[in-house]
Amino acid sequence: MELMRAARLHGSNDLRVEDVPVPDATQCKEGVLVEVEWCGICGSDLHLYTSDAPKFQQPFMMGHEFCGVVRKAFPGSTLEEGDRVVTNPTLTCEECFCCWSGWEPQCPKLLFIGLPGGHGGGLSEFVTVQESKLHKIPDNIGFESAALVEPLAVGLHAVRKAEVDDKDWGRKTVLILGGGPVGYAVLANLMAAGADPGRLLVTEPTERRLKSLQSFGVRVLSPDKDDIVKACKELSQGEGVEVAFDCAGKTESAGTAMSAMRPRGTYINVAFWGSNLIVPFYDFFKKEVTCRSSMAYSGDEFREALDLMAQGKYRSIGNMVTARYPLENAQEAFHQLLTRREDHIKILVTPKVSNTTPVAA
Ligand SMILES: [Zn+2]
Ligand SMILES: [Zn+2]
Repeated sequence: MELMRAARLHGSNDLRVEDVPVPDATQCKEGVLVEVEWCGICGSDLHLYTSDAPKFQQPFMMGHEFCGVVRKAFPGSTLEEGDRVVTNPTLTCEECFCCWSGWEPQCPKLLFIGLPGGHGGGLSEFVTVQESKLHKIPDNIGFESAALVEPLAVGLHAVRKAEVDDKDWGRKTVLILGGGPVGYAVLANLMAAGADPGRLLVTEPTERRLKSLQSFGVRVLSPDKDDIVKACKELSQGEGVEVAFDCAGKTESAGTAMSAMRPRGTYINVAFWGSNLIVPFYDFFKKEVTCRSSMAYSGDEFREALDLMAQGKYRSIGNMVTARYPLENAQEAFHQLLTRREDHIKILVTPKVSNTTPVAA
């Protein structure tokens, strides 16, 4: 039996890189074997890693933000060995009314490659992926950027949930709460849709993230030190912002959004709350705020995010990657994200030694 290296979560704070069998094509229908180049670590990965009472069957392979090269395709596949591909990691039933409506995140059977219940994971050398979930990477996109398509698709879906026409974003005043990977992806998509950086405000408490976000030309303020509500009023001639994206998922961020919003504004939650979402009642009621939620992305949105990247619409996106680790040190990458949050936005991991070994001059 052929073996490969893979990072598997055995329990709370226990991620081990070990030898496991190379997956075979029968793991899913129309399975294509992909050799992984890069895989990003997501907030949901960290959440699972630290959870005290895991409800999943252990151990399982992690990583859902990955790209790589086709190593084995089935006869008649549109893909062939050597094709560069990025994976839409969502696993859906393809039969329910949500799947038929293009609402794949709402499919009752939704799972992800690299999350509990799914098969395989990007923090390994090889993954078998259903052909329809693989997208060829255009020549002008490098592997590192391709690994960012998944989080960018999350941002694209959130921006779409605001139901604003692209031609109108230039006039909208917007507040983004939280400048981590999700806030970064929302901001990149707003800019791609034609938003005016002079009408955007981002809140982020940590210094390095704050600086990185400023590369978009937007105003970034600290929710701990600055008066966010006042700044939002200044940005909007005293009216309040029209749209708020909550990428922080804290009672304080939702409260700030309600106060900072203009009447009949739209609040979109993109964060994963570890608790109930609590919204201050009076602003919500008096202003008739529309509250929406945004989770993951549809298959079409994943492809559109890749297209937007190929068109060069995601500027400053390379700044999102703050560190790169070899697979053998995957646990260290998790620790960095957990203990040095202020220094990182997205960490990429590679199973290919040649990706992280500096080439001798
Ligand atoms: Zn993710
Ligand atoms: Zn379904």
